[in-house]
Amino acid sequence: MLVVMQSHATEEQVREVCRRIESLGLKAHPIPGSIRTAIGITGNKGALDLAVLESLPGVVECIPVSKPYKLVSRDAKQEDTILRIPTPSGDVVIGGEHIALAAGPCAIENEAQTMAIAEAVAKTGFRLFRGGAYKPRTSPYSFQGLGEPGLKLLAKARERFGLGIVTEAIDNESLDLVEQYADVIQIGARNMQNFSLLKRAGRSRKPVLLKRGMSATLDEFLMAAEYILAEGNYNVILCERGVRTFADHSRNTLDLTIVPAVKKRSHLPIFVDPSHGTGRRHKVLPLSRAAVAVGADGLLIEVHNEPDKALSDGVQSILPEEFVRLASEVRQIAAVLERKLN
Ligand code: PEP
Ligand code: MN
Repeated sequence: MLVVMQSHATEEQVREVCRRIESLGLKAHPIPGSIRTAIGITGNKGALDLAVLESLPGVVECIPVSKPYKLVSRDAKQEDTILRIPTPSGDVVIGGEHIALAAGPCAIENEAQTMAIAEAVAKTGFRLFRGGAYKPRTSPYSFQGLGEPGLKLLAKARERFGLGIVTEAIDNESLDLVEQYADVIQIGARNMQNFSLLKRAGRSRKPVLLKRGMSATLDEFLMAAEYILAEGNYNVILCERGVRTFADHSRNTLDLTIVPAVKKRSHLPIFVDPSHGTGRRHKVLPLSRAAVAVGADGLLIEVHNEPDKALSDGVQSILPEEFVRLASEVRQIAAVLERKLN
């Protein structure tokens, strides 16, 4: 259910509607828009009879939301959400006319590797550095990440090069630590339906990058994001990273059709990760071009200074100089769409 307020409704009127909703044992989510505020209601088990709310000053109407997701839906907020990610060298803006590039290794391996790649990324002028300290690996015998020492290396790179950090939490325990170091908390594909982790991320004050599960439908993907918003964290970036299909020429099938499908249904920004989406270095540039052309709000790219020695995902990692070329090409495509990279 959504309560639509008049465009000239006062803050006090919005607060009063929220108070009345909460007095019914429900949760109110005021969602300010450029024209009007809508108030999402969650916590109801069945249909609600909220005629009483319609008679409150400042209310236009109460509308049932037919979709299973409410807060992520365009019904709740018509215009695109534009996120500002604070970094030591200024805000990175995501959405609207702004496209963000985040780059870095799959995993944080050691100090020399981290600093070399962070320096190369910083030199390109982009300010979001990705790298996992906790790695959800298919095999328990593969490198699992450095854990907190890896987060400390990320903090050092952040400080030295002014980079914002995007790094993954794999469970509630690691999230407690990750949120102290990260500027953006990543939730990986394998955890897209880890509901307790989603709720915990929803209680964090840091923005969340939520990857699509490898067999998740669009509704499941949006419902996972809904878990985070329902707990009060509205700073969510979706990320398409490829799904499992019968195709065997590619690690995954990068489903770029989801970008316009998300845009139609949701106000949230969506990134594309062509590294995991293809699994092969030579496909990263062409799919990055396509992702920006189809309307992605950002790219997540695996970059390594010595990909052949990488402890994870070397075959899909590009060199820093290839990232420079990628950025230059997608900048030109973005310009055609009147968008800018940052
Ligand atoms: C990653 O970004 O390194 C990662 C593990 O991604 P995904 O969850 O999409 O597999
Ligand atoms: Mn990876």
